[in-house]
Formats: sequence, C-alpha cells, structure tokens
Amino acid sequence: MSKKNVYFFGGGKADGNESMKNLLGGKGANLAEMAGHPSLRLPVPPGFTITTEVCTYYYQNKKKYPAGLKEEVAKALKKVEAIMGKSFGDPSDPLLVSVRSGARKSMPGMMETVLNVGLTEKTIPGLIKQSGGNQRFVYDAYRRLMMMYSDVVMEKAAGIEPKDEMGIRRQLERIMDARKKERGVKNDVDLNVEDLKYLCAEFKKKIREVLGQEFPDDPMAQLWGGIGAVFSSWNGKRAVAYRNIEHIPHEWGTAVNVQTMVFGNMGNDSATGVAFTRNPGNGDAAFYGEYLVNAQGEDVVAGIRTPAPINQYSQSEHNKDLETLERKMPKVYKELFDIQKRLEKHYHDMQDIEFTIEKGRLFMLQCRIGKRNGPAAVKIATDMVKEKLIDKTTAVSRVTPEQLDELLHPIINPAEEKANKPMAKGLPAGPGAACGMIVFTSADAIRLSKEGKKVILVREETNPEDIDGMRAAEAILTARGGMTSHAALVARGWGKCCVVGCSALEIDLSKKEVEIEGAGALHEGEWITLNGTKGLVYKGQLKMMDASSENEILNEFLKICDGIRTLNIRTNADTPEDARKARQFGAEGIGLFRTEHMFYGKGSEEPLFKLRKMIMSSSLEERQKAVGELFGHVKSDIKATLEAMEGLPVTIRLLDPPLHEFVPHQQQARETLAGSLNISMEELEKRSDSLAESNPMMGHRGVRLGVTYPEVSEMQFRAILEAAAELLKAGKKVFPEIMIPVVCTVKELTDQLDIAKKVYAEVLNKFGLKKIDHMFGTMIEIPRAALVADKIAEVASFFSFGTNDLTQMTFGFSRDDIGAFLPEYLKKGILADDPFQTIDQEGVGELIATGINRGRKTNKKLKVGICGEHGGDPRSIGFCYRAGMNYVSCSPFRVPIARLAAARAVLANKTAKKGKKK
Ligand code: PEP
Ligand code: MG
Repeated sequence: MSKKNVYFFGGGKADGNESMKNLLGGKGANLAEMAGHPSLRLPVPPGFTITTEVCTYYYQNKKKYPAGLKEEVAKALKKVEAIMGKSFGDPSDPLLVSVRSGARKSMPGMMETVLNVGLTEKTIPGLIKQSGGNQRFVYDAYRRLMMMYSDVVMEKAAGIEPKDEMGIRRQLERIMDARKKERGVKNDVDLNVEDLKYLCAEFKKKIREVLGQEFPDDPMAQLWGGIGAVFSSWNGKRAVAYRNIEHIPHEWGTAVNVQTMVFGNMGNDSATGVAFTRNPGNGDAAFYGEYLVNAQGEDVVAGIRTPAPINQYSQSEHNKDLETLERKMPKVYKELFDIQKRLEKHYHDMQDIEFTIEKGRLFMLQCRIGKRNGPAAVKIATDMVKEKLIDKTTAVSRVTPEQLDELLHPIINPAEEKANKPMAKGLPAGPGAACGMIVFTSADAIRLSKEGKKVILVREETNPEDIDGMRAAEAILTARGGMTSHAALVARGWGKCCVVGCSALEIDLSKKEVEIEGAGALHEGEWITLNGTKGLVYKGQLKMMDASSENEILNEFLKICDGIRTLNIRTNADTPEDARKARQFGAEGIGLFRTEHMFYGKGSEEPLFKLRKMIMSSSLEERQKAVGELFGHVKSDIKATLEAMEGLPVTIRLLDPPLHEFVPHQQQARETLAGSLNISMEELEKRSDSLAESNPMMGHRGVRLGVTYPEVSEMQFRAILEAAAELLKAGKKVFPEIMIPVVCTVKELTDQLDIAKKVYAEVLNKFGLKKIDHMFGTMIEIPRAALVADKIAEVASFFSFGTNDLTQMTFGFSRDDIGAFLPEYLKKGILADDPFQTIDQEGVGELIATGINRGRKTNKKLKVGICGEHGGDPRSIGFCYRAGMNYVSCSPFRVPIARLAAARAVLANKTAKKGKKK
C-alpha cells in the first residue's frame, strides 16, 4: 500500500499525472495531467483524488478507511480552499464540491456522483450572495443535492432496496412533477424561487418520512457520506453487471474525485457540455459536441433537454435550429477549440472532454480517451498516421479485431433502402444496420433473444439498469437523448447499431405499443429495421448487405497492417465467387478448397448423382466408369477456382466426406441410382447398409478413401494437374497445392504420392509441358500425425493444420455433438473457451508446436499453415504467429480481421519480448 492516499490537483500543479491511472483512476489521472502538466495547465477546478487503493482497503477492512485518511483529506481541502479563496462550510462564502467516482477503465454511468456537496441551511445565504443574489439557482442546487444525496448515499449506499417506482428519487421526482403540473409548466427551468423553496422543504419531509433520517445539514457529514457512497457504488448491481460484461476485474476498485463545483446553471452566460476532438461516430477529424445553456452536466447525459450543437459541424436534423456555442459565446468557443487541439496533440489520441462555463468562464472538468465505434477507430487511426500524430504500429494497436468487425457489419441493401421511406428519424448513435422485432423492456429482450429471436429494444431512454437487455438486443432505439446519452455511449462502446432521440416515437409501455407520428402504431413483436449510421427507422424487415470491400479507408488501414504482419492470409473457398470475394478482402491464396463442396448446393445435381454412383459401385470396373464420368466436373470446377485465384497458390484437398452423407435417402433418387447402376433395389440397400458406420468421423474418409480406391485419387490428381496445364497453356500462372486429408502415417502419403507422380508424368506428356508448378502436402489433423511429423515432412512439402479435427481428436469431443455438454463446461469454468473457436494452446497448441518443430527438423523448407476454423480467430492467429506458421486461412469475410490480427500479433510479441528483457 502506498503511503499517500490523497492526491491534490489545481492552480497549475498536481501530485499525480496521466501515467497513474491504476492508482488515481482514469478521471483522477487525467485531471492531474490537465491541471499540472507544464504543457497543459488547463483551467481545471481544483480538487483531490482519493486512491483506488483506499477502495480496496475499504472492502478488505469491513468498510473502514485507512488511518490518516481524514487528515489527508482535510489537508487537501485546505489547499483547495486556499486556491479558491473560500472555505468549505463557510456561511458567508462557501466552497461547494462534487464527489465522483473514477475507475481505471471508464464505466459510464455505472457508479454514483453527488454534486453541490457543502450546501446547507447555513451556507445557502452565502451562495446566494456569491451568485449575485440568484436565489433560484441556489435553491435549485439545493434540491438537486437532496435528490442525489438521498438516493445515492441514504438509500443505495445504505443497502435499501425499494420496490419499483418507490425509490426515494422517484418519490421526490413525483413531488416535483406534481408541482410542475400545479403551476402549469413543463420544464424544470420554469419553476420559480418559491416553487424551489417549497420543493426543498417538501423533499426534507419526504426523506425523513421514507428513510427515517434527516437530510444531513453538516458539510463534513455530506462530504464523507458522498465519499462512502462512491466507494459503495463500486459494488452496486449495475457496476458489477457492467464489469462482468466488459471483463473488468472486480478487485480494481474505484478512486473518488472531490473537486470544486463550478456551475453551468448560473444563468444564460453559463453552460455545460460534452465534446470529442473528432467525431466518435464516423471518425471525421472535426471538433464535435453538444452543450446546454444554464444547465448542470447531468442534464446533458440524462437526455431531458435536447442539447445544442457546439458548432456547425455538430448540427443534425435534431438540433439544427438551436444556436451553436460558436455563435453564442465566440470567445469561450475559441478557447475551448484551442484547448481540445492541445489535448489531442498532447495525448496523441481522440479525447472525450467535459466542460462547464460559469458566468462566461471556461472550466475543464474531464478528459479521457474517447470511445469510438469501429468505423471511427479505423478512420482516426489512419488519419492520425497521415497527420504524423502517431506511427503505424500505434495505429494498428488502436483498432481491435472486434472494432474492425463492425465495419464488416451489414448495411441495408441500398436499393431496398431507396425504395422504402423511413418512418422516423433520430440520431445516428451506433453503426451499421439491424432488423428485429420490437420489445419494450430489457427483460423481454433477454427472454426473447434466449429463444433465438432477433429483437430491437425500443425505450423512452435507457438507463444503466438496461445493460443486459441492450446487450441481448440486435439494436437499440430510443425516443429521447442525444449523442452522449446513456444508450448512445453504451452502444458506441459495443459497436452496436443504435438510434437515439427519435422524438416521433410515443411509447405506451402498458399496451406494449409505440405510436409513430405519421406511421401509426406498432406493437411488440412487429419488425423494424434501423440504419444506425444515418439514424433512420424503417417498418418491416429490409434486406441487408455487406459494404466492406468498397471502403477506401478500410483498405488504407489494412495496407498499414500488411506492412507490419509477417503471416500470410489465405482463405477457405470452394467456388470462384468466394475466391474473388476473398481476393477483394486481401486474401493471398486459398488455404483450403474442399473438393466435396462441389457436390452440395445449386447446380450440383449432376455431379452429385455421379459421385453417388461412384460411392455405390462395388467393383473396380463399375467404379472406374463412374469416376470417369465425374472427371470432367471435378476438373472444370477446380479450373474455375484456380483461374479466379490466378497468380496465387490454391490448396486443393482431395475428397474428404464421410461417405454415408452422400447416400440418397429419397425413394425416387434411390430408384434412379439403382437403375443407372443397373442393380436391383435390394442390392442398392445392401450396398448402402455396408457404407453405414458407427463413427463416421473416424471412419472411411480422407486418405483412407484414396488408399482403398486409388482410382478415385488418380482421377482427382489428373483433374487438378490437367486444369493447371490448360491454364498454363493459356498463359495463366497458377499454383496448385495438392493436399491429402486425415493422414496419420507417412506411408499413407507415399502411397498417394506414387499415384500422383505417375499422373504428373502423364499430364506433362499429354500437354507437352516440361513442368507444372505444384506442391504435394498434407493436413495435420490427427494427433499421431503431429507426433510423427518429422517422418511425414520427408514426403510432404507443406503441412496445413486441420484444427477442427485436431481439436476433436485431441479432446475426444465429437465436433457435431458438443452442444450437449460444452455450455456447461464453459459455465462451470472447466474450460475457459470453446476449443473449436479458440485454439486450446495448452493441449492442441502443444501438438501444433511439436508438429511444426519436428516437421521442420527433417524439411527446412516445410511450408506451414492452418485451415481449421481457428484461422479466423484473432487469439488463435496470435498463437499461429508465435508457433512460426507461414499463413493462416479463414473464410472470406474474416480475411480483413485476420490481416489486422496478424499485424497485432507482431506488435504483441515485440511488447512481450521487451517485457521479458526488463
Ligand atoms: C479441419 O479438420 O480442421 C479441417 C479444416 O477439415 P474439415 O473441417 O473439412 O474436416
Ligand atoms: Mg478435417
């Protein structure tokens, strides 16, 4: 435990700095940096931070504070008083403070805040004097303090759990609503001094009645009450749920920031706002934000009033009629603009800032690295490299694979979007598009999504209690709130499609119905589609499409990744269309072409029929005939894909289907097949029965098929090599890599290689060629193969790890049957991850490493890759890089993510090595 528990900041000095986030929390560390760093020294209201270690101590010691804390707080408070020239609790000129949380990682809205602390019956007259006789402001501040304090300190921190709608805050709000109604006014600002005085008196009574305690009239009692409540809120329900979702360790604790209050609600020359140094929704390099005149910070986040744009760039459909800060207070705007520029230069990253203007004077209340969605992350990183604000490695480290994934999210098919008129428009708070059925509560969102339904959570506005429901929903739509409202912040953090502030909605929760101005009523379960990038709401289920390959910025960013990565990225593709798509995404070849896929799907009836004939043949003669008929299909299919991948390697795997999958079940198909083979139905039954296996995954598949039916392999070798020869002759450069699956001993491979060699010589001869560039290699997907890799590598020129089967056979978990037990394994923590999604580095990984090391011992040039599903999983890609593979292969849509993950793997490894050297 450090000796120092309290860190002061203010007056151009600070005890802490930005690097002390673990101890001071993000907010405290940045306040210290802004206030004290010689190149910043920004106008930050003075204050102090109580460390996160105090929070840990508090929880470890039955909610007691460490010795000496009271004295340290008193000392720091004295310093604040000296700078401000006022004293805490002084009846003639009182200092008021805010008490706020501040964890290492931002947890927006999940913990508690108390403002206006230090306001008591005795200090009220002093504050009135200070404010130039503004009684209305003072009584408004007092009623806000009572609302927050009674809720946060006297109820929540005391562990009281009121029934729905019976929380003290709701009860006080009802008193206020009643008064507004009585007075015939709509907004809080329309209440006058008398109303507020009345409310303060009523609030006191209500607090006493509901909570059985007086609202404390002593500044010190308020301060310590606030500090304790913030510490308690670390373990509040919302905070715990948020940490679970975000994987934030529960033992970190929060810091407490006590800071001089400055007031954005002292009149029309006062304001408060939130801004970003760049647009967090799309990454535009433009100062972007919103503000409210005559308001406190909570009013902006609460979304009760529509905030105004700070400048023209920040204008939207929604706020375009409101005056910008730039016009209303040009001098202050200029100061703020300069500060944000300095902040971005200082931190080399986009900042999220909070400011308050008190009687024309600007104060900075917070700055932190701004959360951004995927499209913005990519654009900001790419732009900052161009602006020489960051280097390329930093750019790559700033974008996570999950954020990149957001760019690859569907958008509404443009033609479809054009043909449909939006029902309503709100603010574009979260990217991409989504469609789903309307639900109105978080509980319904969770329940229906568990049933596999796609839902969109439609709310007046969201609050932190909605977190789990928001998570479960495809998208979120709210009637109120701005770009910095709770829903917008949370959705942006997750990269979820979200539209906020859609004022055309009128929600009737009791009827589970939403009335949309001009479009009528919609009910729970009805479909809507959102365009989160534009803020549009459509009726029904619109078609979606992917837009990633046309994205210039994405391509630029991925080129930066390509400059760093060393792993090649290939794709698993079996059709020319997939191959082309993958090339657009940047694939550098095909790592797995599954031959059997030409027998599935559209246009496959004829080849499938011939394959069935081949499978059902019982004599060599019969089979040779069927194989001969199949040859043309296989060759032309392979040729088309080789051509689409011209110039790049294509790994073609020989047939690897469990045979029974291809036996027809329909009577009609069985009869046709029997007819074509010229056999009776009984004979067909007999042959198909003989193909049935108890464990087909470990049955007559892969190389075993080629060993028992060499003519089947022969036909495939010929198809591959002739396809290549024809393309060569046509002047195209192609590089087929012939891959043998399910190998467990080198002799299987030599058996097949002999056939391949014979066919190769025949094809050269037939086409009059001297050579056809190609390779002969194998999959390593059986544990034994990994163990005898040294022997196998003497015959194979490449290995491709088939980690789907390798995982299946290493764990002894059937690939197709894990649904019955894996969820329980994950829930109980027996396994940390699904090993079919992320490589089990401890077990399967060990086999991979052994396979690579042993293989390269006997074959220095051995090319190694992976083609199991793990090839598109960022964590597994990191492992493949460390294991020394040459490439990973994944589905076309994962290629961009793999390019980024491979670059990040290089960076992570450098950091890890540096760490070790220290
Ligand atoms: C594998 O086993 O990892 C593999 C790629 O092959 P398949 O999934 O086709 O069995
Ligand atoms: Mg396999």
